[in-house]
Amino acid sequence: MWRIALERADVEPVEFCQDLELPKGVGGEDALGWGPARLTGRLARRGEGYVVSGSVQVMGQLQCVRCLEGFPFSVQEQFSLRLLPLALAPSEEEVQLTRRDLDVLFFAEPFLDLELLAAEQVELALPVKPLCQADCRGLCPQCGSNLNQGACPCPPQVDERWRKLGDLFPPS
Ligand SMILES: [Zn+2]
Ligand SMILES: [Zn+2]
Repeated sequence: MWRIALERADVEPVEFCQDLELPKGVGGEDALGWGPARLTGRLARRGEGYVVSGSVQVMGQLQCVRCLEGFPFSVQEQFSLRLLPLALAPSEEEVQLTRRDLDVLFFAEPFLDLELLAAEQVELALPVKPLCQADCRGLCPQCGSNLNQGACPCPPQVDERWRKLGDLFPPS
Protein backbone atom coordinates (compact mmCIF):
# COMPACT_ATOMS: atom_id res chain seq x y z
CA MET A 1 0.00 0.00 0.00
CA TRP A 2 1.64 3.15 -1.24
CA ARG A 3 0.12 6.05 0.59
CA ILE A 4 1.19 9.10 2.50
CA ALA A 5 -0.63 10.42 5.57
CA LEU A 6 -1.66 13.95 4.66
CA GLU A 7 -0.91 15.24 8.16
CA ARG A 8 2.78 14.66 7.47
CA ALA A 9 2.63 17.74 5.23
CA ASP A 10 1.09 19.90 7.96
CA VAL A 11 4.50 20.76 9.35
CA GLU A 12 6.55 20.94 6.18
CA PRO A 13 6.16 19.76 2.56
CA VAL A 14 6.76 16.07 1.93
CA GLU A 15 8.80 15.05 -1.12
CA PHE A 16 8.31 11.59 -2.53
CA CYS A 17 9.81 9.37 -5.21
CA GLN A 18 8.13 6.01 -5.46
CA ASP A 19 8.39 3.11 -7.89
CA LEU A 20 5.09 1.28 -8.01
CA GLU A 21 2.94 -1.04 -10.09
CA LEU A 22 -0.08 0.45 -11.80
CA PRO A 23 -3.31 -1.22 -10.69
CA LYS A 24 -5.01 -3.64 -13.09
CA GLY A 25 -7.24 -2.06 -15.70
CA VAL A 26 -5.30 1.14 -16.38
CA GLY A 27 -5.79 1.95 -20.06
CA GLY A 28 -8.60 -0.57 -20.42
CA GLU A 29 -8.50 -2.85 -23.45
CA ASP A 30 -6.05 -0.57 -25.26
CA ALA A 31 -3.26 -1.40 -22.80
CA LEU A 32 -1.42 -4.70 -23.18
CA GLY A 33 0.84 -4.16 -20.17
CA TRP A 34 2.78 -1.69 -18.08
CA GLY A 35 6.26 -1.65 -16.64
CA PRO A 36 6.97 -0.20 -13.20
CA ALA A 37 5.81 3.38 -12.83
CA ARG A 38 7.84 6.09 -11.13
CA LEU A 39 5.93 8.77 -9.31
CA THR A 40 7.79 11.78 -7.96
CA GLY A 41 6.31 14.81 -6.37
CA ARG A 42 5.72 17.08 -3.46
CA LEU A 43 2.80 17.32 -1.07
CA ALA A 44 2.22 20.60 0.73
CA ARG A 45 -0.42 22.11 2.96
CA ARG A 46 -2.54 24.81 1.34
CA GLY A 47 -5.65 26.47 2.74
CA GLU A 48 -8.20 23.93 3.90
CA GLY A 49 -6.47 21.14 2.05
CA TYR A 50 -3.25 20.26 0.32
CA VAL A 51 -1.64 20.52 -3.05
CA VAL A 52 0.28 17.74 -4.72
CA SER A 53 2.43 18.31 -7.77
CA GLY A 54 4.92 16.18 -9.61
CA SER A 55 5.22 13.78 -12.50
CA VAL A 56 4.61 10.17 -13.39
CA GLN A 57 6.71 8.12 -15.81
CA VAL A 58 5.95 4.67 -17.13
CA MET A 59 6.61 2.53 -20.22
CA GLY A 60 3.90 0.29 -21.53
CA GLN A 61 2.49 -1.52 -24.53
CA LEU A 62 -0.65 -0.28 -26.22
CA GLN A 63 -2.63 -1.97 -28.94
CA CYS A 64 -3.02 -0.09 -32.23
CA VAL A 65 -6.70 0.40 -33.10
CA ARG A 66 -6.00 -0.07 -36.83
CA CYS A 67 -3.55 -2.96 -37.15
CA LEU A 68 -4.09 -4.48 -33.67
CA GLU A 69 -0.32 -4.82 -33.10
CA GLY A 70 1.21 -3.92 -29.76
CA PHE A 71 3.58 -0.98 -29.72
CA PRO A 72 5.66 0.67 -27.00
CA PHE A 73 4.24 3.80 -25.44
CA SER A 74 5.86 5.97 -22.81
CA VAL A 75 4.05 8.31 -20.47
CA GLN A 76 5.69 11.31 -18.89
CA GLU A 77 2.93 13.37 -17.34
CA GLN A 78 3.19 16.43 -15.11
CA PHE A 79 0.42 17.20 -12.67
CA SER A 80 -0.62 19.69 -10.06
CA LEU A 81 -3.76 18.94 -8.06
CA ARG A 82 -5.56 20.38 -5.11
CA LEU A 83 -6.65 17.96 -2.43
CA LEU A 84 -9.69 18.96 -0.43
CA PRO A 85 -11.70 17.13 2.22
CA LEU A 86 -14.76 15.40 0.78
CA ALA A 87 -16.88 17.52 3.12
CA LEU A 88 -16.04 20.50 0.91
CA ALA A 89 -17.21 18.81 -2.30
CA PRO A 90 -19.74 21.04 -4.06
CA SER A 91 -22.67 18.61 -4.31
CA GLU A 92 -23.88 15.61 -2.34
CA GLU A 93 -24.55 12.98 -4.93
CA GLU A 94 -23.76 9.36 -4.25
CA VAL A 95 -21.01 8.84 -1.73
CA GLN A 96 -17.71 7.76 -3.20
CA LEU A 97 -14.32 7.38 -1.62
CA THR A 98 -12.75 9.99 -3.84
CA ARG A 99 -14.27 12.25 -6.41
CA ARG A 100 -12.54 14.01 -9.18
CA ASP A 101 -13.55 17.41 -10.45
CA LEU A 102 -11.06 18.84 -12.91
CA ASP A 103 -7.86 19.24 -10.97
CA VAL A 104 -9.37 19.01 -7.55
CA LEU A 105 -9.29 15.65 -5.80
CA PHE A 106 -11.58 15.17 -2.81
CA PHE A 107 -10.42 12.80 -0.14
CA ALA A 108 -12.51 10.90 2.38
CA GLU A 109 -9.56 9.45 4.25
CA PRO A 110 -6.59 11.60 5.25
CA PHE A 111 -4.17 9.82 2.93
CA LEU A 112 -2.68 10.44 -0.49
CA ASP A 113 -2.97 7.18 -2.41
CA LEU A 114 0.05 7.16 -4.72
CA GLU A 115 -1.15 4.18 -6.73
CA LEU A 116 -4.47 5.86 -7.49
CA LEU A 117 -2.76 9.14 -8.30
CA ALA A 118 -0.37 7.46 -10.75
CA ALA A 119 -3.22 5.48 -12.35
CA GLU A 120 -5.33 8.59 -12.92
CA GLN A 121 -2.48 10.58 -14.41
CA VAL A 122 -1.55 7.75 -16.79
CA GLU A 123 -5.20 7.46 -17.91
CA LEU A 124 -5.22 11.18 -18.69
CA ALA A 125 -2.08 10.84 -20.80
CA LEU A 126 -3.39 8.04 -23.02
CA PRO A 127 -4.56 8.74 -26.57
CA VAL A 128 -8.26 8.19 -27.32
CA LYS A 129 -7.33 6.08 -30.37
CA PRO A 130 -3.87 4.59 -29.98
CA LEU A 131 -1.98 4.25 -33.27
CA CYS A 132 1.36 2.44 -33.72
CA GLN A 133 2.31 5.21 -36.19
CA ALA A 134 0.38 8.20 -37.47
CA ASP A 135 -0.02 6.67 -40.94
CA CYS A 136 -0.66 3.07 -39.85
CA ARG A 137 -2.15 1.30 -42.89
CA GLY A 138 -4.18 -1.09 -40.79
CA LEU A 139 -5.45 -4.50 -41.83
CA CYS A 140 -6.74 -5.53 -45.24
CA PRO A 141 -10.53 -5.74 -44.94
CA GLN A 142 -10.51 -8.82 -47.19
CA CYS A 143 -7.67 -11.08 -46.02
CA GLY A 144 -6.79 -9.44 -42.71
CA SER A 145 -3.07 -9.11 -43.35
CA ASN A 146 -1.16 -6.25 -41.79
CA LEU A 147 -0.64 -3.75 -44.60
CA ASN A 148 2.29 -2.13 -42.76
CA GLN A 149 4.27 -5.27 -43.66
CA GLY A 150 3.62 -4.88 -47.37
CA ALA A 151 0.80 -5.17 -49.87
CA CYS A 152 -1.39 -8.28 -49.77
CA PRO A 153 -2.44 -10.25 -52.87
CA CYS A 154 -6.04 -9.02 -52.74
CA PRO A 155 -7.31 -7.02 -55.73
CA PRO A 156 -7.75 -3.37 -54.87
CA GLN A 157 -11.29 -2.66 -53.75
CA VAL A 158 -13.10 -0.23 -55.95
CA ASP A 159 -15.70 1.97 -54.37
CA GLU A 160 -19.12 1.35 -55.99
CA ARG A 161 -19.57 5.04 -56.73
CA TRP A 162 -16.34 5.09 -58.76
CA ARG A 163 -17.29 1.86 -60.53
CA LYS A 164 -20.45 3.53 -61.89
CA LEU A 165 -18.38 6.46 -63.12
CA GLY A 166 -16.07 3.96 -64.82
CA ASP A 167 -19.10 2.52 -66.69
CA LEU A 168 -20.01 5.98 -67.90
CA PHE A 169 -16.51 6.74 -69.05
CA PRO A 170 -15.01 3.42 -70.26
CA PRO A 171 -11.28 3.50 -70.83
CA SER A 172 -10.65 4.10 -74.51
ZN1 LIG B 1 -1.03 0.11 -36.38
ZN1 LIG C 1 -5.77 -8.57 -48.43
